[in-house]
Amino acid sequence: MKTKILIIEDNDKNMYMLSFLLRSENFEVIETFSGKVGIASAIIHEPDVILLDIQLPEMNGYTVAIKIREIEKLKHTPIIAVTSYAMPGDREKAIESGATGYIEKPINPDTFISQMKSFLPPELLLKMEN
Ligand code: MN
Repeated sequence: MKTKILIIEDNDKNMYMLSFLLRSENFEVIETFSGKVGIASAIIHEPDVILLDIQLPEMNGYTVAIKIREIEKLKHTPIIAVTSYAMPGDREKAIESGATGYIEKPINPDTFISQMKSFLPPELLLKMEN
């Protein structure tokens, strides 16, 4: 079974890039462009990993992470925050909101997959190899 990755990202170019990189690695990708749809999609699809943009319209990524963590079956789903805010304290804020890890934009296509994997639990990495 393919590893399922839910992306929540409002920017088309970033979505295209993330989606392209993940599909190239044979992941199943679900694309959502807002926090609201992202949360609903997470409940329906129960992804293995959630990639979460922090700068989203209406509901920002911190709030999205908090809401996802309130959902019992998503309590332990890895959430990787992706953000171009380079403000001190952002990483801490993302982690406090429930994110598992944090990747800074701009996305580096050569290192993105390994950056993402560095935040994932061993059992999931094992599943990815099979
Ligand atoms: Mn954004």
